[in-house]
Amino acid sequence: MPSFTRFETHDVRFPTSRDLDGSDAMNPDPDYSAAYLIIGTDAADGLEGHGFAFTIGRGNDVQVAAIQALAEHVLGLDVDTVLADMGATWRLFVDDSQLRWLGPEKGVMNMAISAVVNALWDLKAKRAGLPLWDLLAGMSPEELVALVDFRYLTDALTREEALAILRQAEPGRAARREELLQKGFPAYTTTPGWLGYSDEKLVRLAREAVEQGYTQIKLKVGGNVDDDVRRMRLARETVGPDIRIATDANQRWDVSDAIAWVKALTPFDPWWIEEPTSPDDVLGHAAIRKAVAPVKVATGEHVQNRIVFKQLLQAGALDVLQIDAARVAGVNENIAILLLAAKFGVPVCPHAGGVGLCELVQHLSMFDFVAVSGTTQDRVIEWVEHLHEHFLAPARVESGAYVTPTQPGFSAQMVPATLTHFAFPNGAEWAPAQLEVSA
Ligand SMILES: [Mg+2]
Repeated sequence: MPSFTRFETHDVRFPTSRDLDGSDAMNPDPDYSAAYLIIGTDAADGLEGHGFAFTIGRGNDVQVAAIQALAEHVLGLDVDTVLADMGATWRLFVDDSQLRWLGPEKGVMNMAISAVVNALWDLKAKRAGLPLWDLLAGMSPEELVALVDFRYLTDALTREEALAILRQAEPGRAARREELLQKGFPAYTTTPGWLGYSDEKLVRLAREAVEQGYTQIKLKVGGNVDDDVRRMRLARETVGPDIRIATDANQRWDVSDAIAWVKALTPFDPWWIEEPTSPDDVLGHAAIRKAVAPVKVATGEHVQNRIVFKQLLQAGALDVLQIDAARVAGVNENIAILLLAAKFGVPVCPHAGGVGLCELVQHLSMFDFVAVSGTTQDRVIEWVEHLHEHFLAPARVESGAYVTPTQPGFSAQMVPATLTHFAFPNGAEWAPAQLEVSA
């Protein structure tokens, strides 16, 4: 009976602030980082589970410590038992009564649980020889609802309603699986729109995006309204009337500022405004949505858990729901959120970018398409063209669509050399002087 023998964390940081990649109104100089976890066993197959929480630099050490706090819930346990009942395993982490005090179910502790839960799913999928999306999409409706904690949800979604959603999608699974393997899943690109880029770079990248087959791009907004109007006009002139241009304020505004700012951009036909205000402000989002329609309101990358998503849906506060693979408590909680979105008929367009978020979240959208919502209508996964080279099985986009991954696992595994070179603070990237001395 194999057991878990290794629980190894790494503080990995990339100096993305040097080129302003990833710059937005709230986060002007991020160093994209991963609080990275490798879970190992003494099984003869030698397979490992890899997972991570994404941060943007300072505090990545705090996130690593939070992941380490969960080691005692994994080390020494029987591998088959833990992976056979991932619903019970999820509760093991979330229900730790002392760690729960640090949330509950929010912030660095929930993100730490996401790293551990996702690493276990990576291992489970590798052992099954399947990409995660396919492993999930092959589970029965009963098995899937057993992964979900319905506590705090039943006023909006009961276990029976979730079962009905999954059963309704069941007959079409095989055909959609084939379609997914043929066509991939629609993507949109944020690459042209970082706030730190010049107008020339914005125009060039927007033109390239259309040439590459994207039907939607995204611009960061919220720095200065005159600059945003100018950039939005340039982008619209460049891509023409038929390409969707989403905008993203990264929580920059009060409710009234958000409404005024979006109205200033409305002549250029923005498709959605993302994170117009605090991710905790359910009623604020609802007020903004009412005022800026038909511009859609999108949010979710900083929504802490399934309960806040439930409220956003109940309050009619969003048109587009943006899951993040590594902020809520991993695969299980995201399945709950996908089911909530399906119940309310709201399309899910995941947050990605960062480091490794495209790699992870593609699996959840693909699972959603095959086994939950059954459609790609108005659904696109964010794509950002950087840091993919650090992954063993990098996500790929061709002709504006994610190429469906076929390698076993959750696509979470980084190249070993990256873990050492970008280790903070002593890897060669961060401590070149030290390297010279030792050389
Ligand atoms: Mg965003």
